[in-house]
Amino acid sequence: MKIGVLALQGAVAEHIRLIELAGAEGVIVKKVEQLADIDGIILPGGESTTMGKLMHLYGFIDALRSFSDQGKPIFGTCAGMILLAEEIAGQEQPHLGLMSMRVARNAFGRQRESFETDLPVVGIVEPVRAVFIRAPLIEEFGAGVEVLATYNGQIVAARQGHLLAASFHPELTDDYAMHSYFLSMVK
Ligand code: GLN
Repeated sequence: MKIGVLALQGAVAEHIRLIELAGAEGVIVKKVEQLADIDGIILPGGESTTMGKLMHLYGFIDALRSFSDQGKPIFGTCAGMILLAEEIAGQEQPHLGLMSMRVARNAFGRQRESFETDLPVVGIVEPVRAVFIRAPLIEEFGAGVEVLATYNGQIVAARQGHLLAASFHPELTDDYAMHSYFLSMVK
């Protein structure tokens, strides 16, 4: 199984490392042509405005929409989750708009308010080690979206069919449970 990580900006190498720990091949994706060779893709954390602009510039908005239309799984972490959402609260920035949810950016405060926690996630046996850095949250969601995790009553992970979103960075720890979960969706 080959899992891509969109490599326009953000935490790419960290995701590749956990994909490989979870037992698949990690592929650094910089060109739309590469999408044909992979079975699923991770949109990493970073800065969603920058990443969205670069995705638009390099043709990834349409290419990833058709990747999703083919039923191929996409996992967005942090900024990646923002890019998956149908709506970004109070903002118009290029994004994929694939998951039926509205997200709020920077919902847990600033960089220095970053934190780490053990988060129970539906479908994963042990709590997942989760790092929150200027993380978004899911304010509202539509039919077909299953909530997978909450933190202090706020929704921080969800799945809609072949699409998976997490507010936090699982890739900044050694815990590859979220990556294994994503691999099971790709299978
Ligand atoms: N705050 C960033 C944004 O809004 C996301 C931060 C992250 O990916 N760690 O795009």
